[in-house]
Amino acid sequence: MTSPNIVVIGTGMAGLGAAHHFHEAGIAVRAFDKNAHAGGHTYSHVYSDTGFIFDEGPHVSFSKDTRIQDLLAGNVGGRFEHMKVDVNNYYYGAWVKHPAQANLHNIPQDLKVRCILDFIEASKTEMVEKPRNYMEWLVSAFGETFATHFPAVYGKKYHTTEAENMSTVWMGPRLYRPSLEEVIRGAIFEETKDVHYIPNFRYPSEGGFVSYLTPFIEKTDIHLNHKVVEIDPASKTVTFENGARETYDHLVSSMPLPELIPVIKGVPDDVRAAADKLACTSCVTVNVGLPRNDFTQAAWTYIYDEDISFTRLSYPHKMSPGNCPPGAGAIQAECYYSRKYHPLTVSADDLIEPVISDLKKIGLLRDDDEILHADARFIPYANVIFDLDREEVLPKVHTWLDAAGIFYAGRYGEWGYQWTDESFKSGERAARQILERL
Ligand SMILES: Cc1cc2nc3c(=O)[nH]c(=O)nc-3n(C[C@H](O)[C@H](O)[C@H](O)COP(=O)(O)OP(=O)(O)OC[C@H]3O[C@@H](n4cnc5c(N)ncnc54)[C@H](O)[C@@H]3O)c2cc1C
Repeated sequence: MTSPNIVVIGTGMAGLGAAHHFHEAGIAVRAFDKNAHAGGHTYSHVYSDTGFIFDEGPHVSFSKDTRIQDLLAGNVGGRFEHMKVDVNNYYYGAWVKHPAQANLHNIPQDLKVRCILDFIEASKTEMVEKPRNYMEWLVSAFGETFATHFPAVYGKKYHTTEAENMSTVWMGPRLYRPSLEEVIRGAIFEETKDVHYIPNFRYPSEGGFVSYLTPFIEKTDIHLNHKVVEIDPASKTVTFENGARETYDHLVSSMPLPELIPVIKGVPDDVRAAADKLACTSCVTVNVGLPRNDFTQAAWTYIYDEDISFTRLSYPHKMSPGNCPPGAGAIQAECYYSRKYHPLTVSADDLIEPVISDLKKIGLLRDDDEILHADARFIPYANVIFDLDREEVLPKVHTWLDAAGIFYAGRYGEWGYQWTDESFKSGERAARQILERL
């Protein structure tokens, strides 16, 4: 049998998952990426001038799949950090252990009382069986006061749209529902048991998160600076912005669906319109490097305040000391926008000053802190928004791609909430489906 001609679009976790699976089956593939580097969303930017490493958005591996754990550990020769997760929240001047619903101890007293009373009311009735939207679920699970003051506000900052406009299909174990006893204990006692759905994580000791992918990248025939501008399913041809053209027998795409659909020749208008309704957040990451690392114990922090520019903070020196010069510390702030609900109207660089000012406001930075590193990056596709439109239009897009024989994979191909391991396995799954057809 002659080797099939396989083209993979994208070199993130999904594209490399597909390439790895074909490689294991003895089939060489060609992978193409618009970027000048491989790794997609899991790329790590190494700043040799300041000595800091910042990932393209914070990334840690908390996969519970031992096969993936072993694969990644092998890729870094066993050199990885293994950390217990320590996460906190910032709520209008109060530092609150995560999850807030089980740790109300530090919030203002009056708000605490109202939260508890509503929790008691909510606990008297069964959870609503089929919530019409995320807000309905929140109120049913936590009561009105906690729902409206905490997850609904945070959700708006993170997803850029109201909880009333979101479905619940994305939630999985993400929102912990405490018993009434846990709520009351968390309101009275400072020490509570850890109930975060991610108990610990791993991270490469050197080189940032992308080190996990290096062996996958090295064994794949990767063509960088190749942006796909047209796919013709009839002639099985892919055309790139640089003028190159490739034919394929089978195609796996990890491109975001709203970008994939418009470049495919012959897409019906209704499918094009459906893809256009798919919403995703964009993220500006502001990376800050400091000469000290004593400003937090947490690995990351959720910020609820509506007047603070960032939604989440993470601390790269907590992932691995290798991410910073000796003794230094780092903060990565995430600020969320979306084309559909909350467009970014300034440049990413314009957010550096407000972020630094807000870091001082919440007390992580001191006025006299020397800033060793500051830069900002725009990530056009961050988190899929599970708005009510998604549930209606996604099946139409996927069904059409299935019929056109185009295999899709990854967070932006499946258009879901996939973590790195799930994106990798999604790429493997697409490869397996192709192998089954051969
Ligand atoms: C802020 C943030 C933090 C996260 N943190 C974690 C975490 O801690 N742990 C975790 O497990 N997961 C995390 N994730 C999820 C994780 O990033 C994804 O699951 C995973 O990286 C997605 O991989 P992918 O290959 O599907 O997509 P991508 O990595 O986006 O890969 C798609 C590739 O396609 C390329 N491409 C796009 N368009 C074209 C085109 N026209 N032509 C050619 N190439 C193109 C892109 O350049 C890219 O390389 C996080 C996500 C975000 C947004």
